Amino acid sequence: MNKRIRELKKQLGDQLIIPAHHYQKQEIIACADIIGDSYKLAVDVSSIDAEYIVFCGVKFMAEGAAILAKEHQRIILPASNAGCPMADMISIDQAETAMQNIHEFCGQSAIPVVYMNAYGDLKALSGRYGGSVCTSSNAQKIMTHYLQNNTPVFFLPDYCLGINTARELSIPDEQIAIVRQDCTIETTGKPEDIKLFLWDGNCRVHQRFTTEHIERIRDEHPGIRVIVHPEVREQVAAAADYAGSTQYIYNTIQKAPAGTIWGVGTEYNFVSRVAADFPEKSIFPIFESHCSNMEKTTINNLQYMLEAIADDTLLLKYPDHIISVPESIRKDAALSLNNMISIVQEN
Ligand code: SF4
Repeated sequence: MNKRIRELKKQLGDQLIIPAHHYQKQEIIACADIIGDSYKLAVDVSSIDAEYIVFCGVKFMAEGAAILAKEHQRIILPASNAGCPMADMISIDQAETAMQNIHEFCGQSAIPVVYMNAYGDLKALSGRYGGSVCTSSNAQKIMTHYLQNNTPVFFLPDYCLGINTARELSIPDEQIAIVRQDCTIETTGKPEDIKLFLWDGNCRVHQRFTTEHIERIRDEHPGIRVIVHPEVREQVAAAADYAGSTQYIYNTIQKAPAGTIWGVGTEYNFVSRVAADFPEKSIFPIFESHCSNMEKTTINNLQYMLEAIADDTLLLKYPDHIISVPESIRKDAALSLNNMISIVQEN
């Protein structure tokens, strides 16, 4: 951590918390008070009282914190242009049209399960229809919770997390439909049999991994265990030994015996940090894939935010970095996020 950030953190004391997502660069992680995947960060941030939450991640994550924030809290995003191409792959209008088309297609409403990697208005849609947010660490639990009531689930926006979760739950192809970006529905099954409607979105960072990368790393390192994030393509998840959220990847490698060899298929900054944290194991990226949006948070823009908080010029200098969600969206989106937290805690 640089000297000035250390001083500012000391000066701001309990007024300030810096959460950072696992995909942030090491220099940002070194400044963070909380590090985790989007589920851990959502839960941790909802229980803290600090007035300033400087969220090192991308916009949908900061929005998630703003949805759960208390009235006196300000959520600040150091890189105000840190978006997410996956979150941009569905608008609220597309989601509403898709919900209508699903109803016409199968004669009943689906429950929207919205991946954390979506904007607040989609989380609010989920809340309005009695659904929930999910993250890659709990998608299976959330999907199971709704499917056991015999109601179809509309999962959005990540097709890969949806299909990889469906495979874990042994849902056959005839019970799955894909909802294309023009909101048309494709399936090989009968409308009345469809349990899962999957929006056709994806994460470019995780789409770069291929089965050839896995074959090559297995050839190069006999005995290697391959672990990937479930945002990878279905064939890539199937070719790996394990698949799970970033927190799952971290915990699995942490618990593995010294001397084991790992090939990891997720964002590169995270993989290099896991390798640095566990030097007694050999840890390699299966391919070097960066999230350019996560990398928009820098020591400079983090320091600017802390300086502005300290001299009370935040609103004047950086209004675009203060993330808020209109009350009309916040209430329903909070319902959806709290549904996730309670479903996970019950199971
Ligand atoms: S890793 Fe993928 S899903 Fe996550 S912020 Fe980057 S583009 Fe979005």
